Amino acid sequence: MSKSIKLCDISDYEKFIDKFDTFLLDCDGVLWKGGDTLPGKKLLFVTNNSARSRADYVEKFKKLNIEAHEDEIFSSSYASAYYLKNVLKFPKEKKIYIIGESGIADELASEGIRHCGLSDNDQQFKPEDIVPDPEVGAVLCGIDFHINFKKLAKALYYLKTNSDCIFLLTNDDATFPASGFIAPGAGAISAPLITALNKKPDAIMGKPNKPMMDCIAQKFKLNLERTCMIGDRLETDIQFGNNNGVTTLLVLTGIAAEKDILVDNAPIIPDYYMSSFGDFAKLC
Ligand SMILES: [Mg+2]
Repeated sequence: MSKSIKLCDISDYEKFIDKFDTFLLDCDGVLWKGGDTLPGKKLLFVTNNSARSRADYVEKFKKLNIEAHEDEIFSSSYASAYYLKNVLKFPKEKKIYIIGESGIADELASEGIRHCGLSDNDQQFKPEDIVPDPEVGAVLCGIDFHINFKKLAKALYYLKTNSDCIFLLTNDDATFPASGFIAPGAGAISAPLITALNKKPDAIMGKPNKPMMDCIAQKFKLNLERTCMIGDRLETDIQFGNNNGVTTLLVLTGIAAEKDILVDNAPIIPDYYMSSFGDFAKLC
């Protein structure tokens, strides 16, 4: 495997930037500690966080003095809604049972897809809750801060009972960095369902999986050869680019450290790396 190229100075930055038209940017670990523009280039913000909608992200960006439009944000919640509508052509008469937060519900609604499940938050399980609902055509599971037995039991029931009921995950991150601790990620929320069903999901949207890249490429009509994925995490961001024919740039302001990619037999290495995305500001 060839080694990663380190971008060190302005001349490196200029040559690098010229190679691409579009940059796919992870948010946490990249943006919050870095700059927010690259002159003359298209930036798309790509995040596995399904708890927020694109509109929520625009608000969060505003507080950080970063200008972004809803159309420049691709969260796993929106990717799921886009995939259901445009790839799976999810039938209008059917609805989605959500295990997740309002960001998923908002994005499904934005694509005109009916949903249910949020009202099961914080509810005690009763066997009489389990009743047939043939309109449920898919279960979509993301990070859920109100996960409970009732939701898992209903999701399992629909997936086992409704013929052709699709099992989708927004993403399957094992953990995510919360304020001061490591929290269980969306992958830990869906794990009980995978065990109970004894089968894998029909599709997993988020990085590093292919459906997310397919949706981004389709929606923005990207030339993937002129696209670069920038992120701080090897197993999601960098693997996402490596798996899908997109050049990758690792920034060292988040999870991964330089030693992780320089060690012999490193399992995942980026094409390029640099200390901080904010260093590109020297070009402005
Ligand atoms: Mg990150």
